[in-house]
Amino acid sequence: MASDPWPSFVCPECGAESWHPKDVEQGYCGRCHWWTGDPALYAMWKEERARPAEAGTDASATGSRPA
Ligand SMILES: [Zn+2]
Repeated sequence: MASDPWPSFVCPECGAESWHPKDVEQGYCGRCHWWTGDPALYAMWKEERARPAEAGTDASATGSRPA
């Protein structure tokens, strides 16, 4: 069984594999449109998506406004 002749990047999120040198280098997934190979960016991205979608209502917005 021959190993890959080219380095590849497999997205931990969607499992897509990319052989694009830039993708491999940066850990970028073209399918997710994110740097899922970068631990910090991947964590940030997951956190963002895990956050419950907030409704547009801002009930706590009272009189205080930025100067
Ligand atoms: Zn992906």
